[in-house]
Amino acid sequence: SVRPPRPTRDAAEPLPPVHSGPILDQFRIALDNIDMDDCEAHGENAFFVADLAEVYRQHLRWQRELGERVTPFFAVKSNPDPYVLRLMAALGLGFDCASQPEISAVLALPGPVSPSRIIYANPCKAASFIRNAAKCGVDTMTFDNADELAKIKKYHPGARMVLRILTDDSSSLCRLGLKFGAPLGEVRGLLKRAKQLDVNVVGISFHCGSGCKDPQLFGDAIRRARWAFDVGREEGYHFDLLDIGGGFEDNNFEEIAAVLRDAMAEQFPLDGAGKGVRIIAEPGRYYVCRAFELATNIIARRAAREGTNDETSMLELAGNEDEDTKPITMYYINDGVYSSFNSTMFDHQIVFPHVLTLDNEFQPSPPLANEHEFEACSIWGPTCDSIDCVQSNASLPTQALQVGDWLRWDNMGAYTICAASQFNGFRRSDVRYTIDSKGDVALESRLRHLLRV
Ligand code: PLP
Repeated sequence: SVRPPRPTRDAAEPLPPVHSGPILDQFRIALDNIDMDDCEAHGENAFFVADLAEVYRQHLRWQRELGERVTPFFAVKSNPDPYVLRLMAALGLGFDCASQPEISAVLALPGPVSPSRIIYANPCKAASFIRNAAKCGVDTMTFDNADELAKIKKYHPGARMVLRILTDDSSSLCRLGLKFGAPLGEVRGLLKRAKQLDVNVVGISFHCGSGCKDPQLFGDAIRRARWAFDVGREEGYHFDLLDIGGGFEDNNFEEIAAVLRDAMAEQFPLDGAGKGVRIIAEPGRYYVCRAFELATNIIARRAAREGTNDETSMLELAGNEDEDTKPITMYYINDGVYSSFNSTMFDHQIVFPHVLTLDNEFQPSPPLANEHEFEACSIWGPTCDSIDCVQSNASLPTQALQVGDWLRWDNMGAYTICAASQFNGFRRSDVRYTIDSKGDVALESRLRHLLRV
C-alpha cells in the first residue's frame, strides 16, 4: 500500500521557544510583559505555562515502577501538545491514537515515528479512518463488536486486532465501560466470528476508566484478561499482546503499579503463561496533568452587596442569614468552561484558584489566610452563558483581589486545551514552555537535545 506524504507542519510552523526555570518564574516574566493599560485586544489573554521537565519526570517514575514489564503508549487525546508529543517520541514511547488526525499528528513528528509504535485504540472507527490507517501502515487496533470485525475484514484485512473487554470501572472519574468493552459473556462469540472472517486477533485490552481511584481494579482486570487469553487459545489464537489501558493518576500511581506488578507476575509470569506476551499501557492524564498550569485574568467583578443602600442591605441581611444565600463576590475571568475549564464538565474535575497577583503585585507564594481575610466567592468564565461557572464556591482574599489581578490554576495539563472551543469568539489559551530542571544541568541539556530546541 502507498504511504501518504507526511505533513510538513513542523517545518512550516516553528514551535515557540522553550524557556528555563520554574513555572512561577515564567508566570512573573510573562505578566511583566503585559501592559494592562495599553495592550491590544487579547493582550491579557489567559495562558498556560508547561514544564516539560515534569513530563519527563513522570516518565522516569513510570520506568522505575513499571518499565521492566509495561511499555507506555501515550494517550494522545489527553494532550496532543506538539512539544509533549515530540518528547514522548524521543523517549521511545508508543502512542494511543483515537482518530485519523491523531495518527497523522504522530506520524508527522520528527524522528520519525514508525506506525508500529501506534495503537489505534478506538473500538468504533469510521470506515474512512480504517482505510487511512491501512494506508499509513497502522495495523494494531482495538474492537469490541462484530460489526467492527466486518469493517476490518473489508478495509484492513491485514490488521492486528485487540479485543477490548469490559472491566469494573466503577471507581473512575470517567466510566468508559458505559460505552466500550465487550462483556466477558461475548468474548468467545466475538473470537469465533473473527475466526470465521479470518481476522487476526492478537491480544486483549481493557480500560479501568479514566482517573481510576481503586488500584485493586487493575488486579481484577488483569485476571479477566487472563481468562480472555485462555478463551483465545481454546478458539485457536496465540495472543501476544496485553494492553492494560489508561486510568493512572499522579497521586495513586505507585499503588496501582504495585497491584499491577503482583497481578502480572501471577497471571502472566515471564517463565510461564506470560512468555512472549508484550504488555503495553495507554496512560494519558498521568503524564501531563501536573505539567501545565494556567494563569487567568480577572476581567470583571460583581462585588457582594454593591450598589445597595443601607435599607436594602438591612433587608438582605435580615433575610439572608443562611450562608448559602448570602451574596458573595462574583469574579469573571478570561477562560471558562467552554475553553480550558471544559475539564470541569467533561472530565469531572473540581478546580481551585491560587492568587498570582494581589492588587497588581506579583505573589511569589500564595497569600496567607492570616494576612488577608479570605471570603467565599464564585468564579465565572468570559462567555455570556450562565453555565460558564468555573468554581461556585471558591475562597479568595476578596478585599485585596481586584479587577486586573491574576489567578493561577494547577493540574491543568490533561483534557483541557485539547477539548477547548472558541464559543463567543474567545481564543484558546496559548502555552508558554519551560524546563524546570531544578538545577540539574545535565537534565536540562538532555531534554533540550530530545526536544530539538
Ligand atoms: N485509552 C483509551 C482508549 C481512552 O479512552 C483513554 C481516555 O479516555 C485513555 C487511554 C487515557 O486515559 P487516562 O488519561 O485516564 O490515562
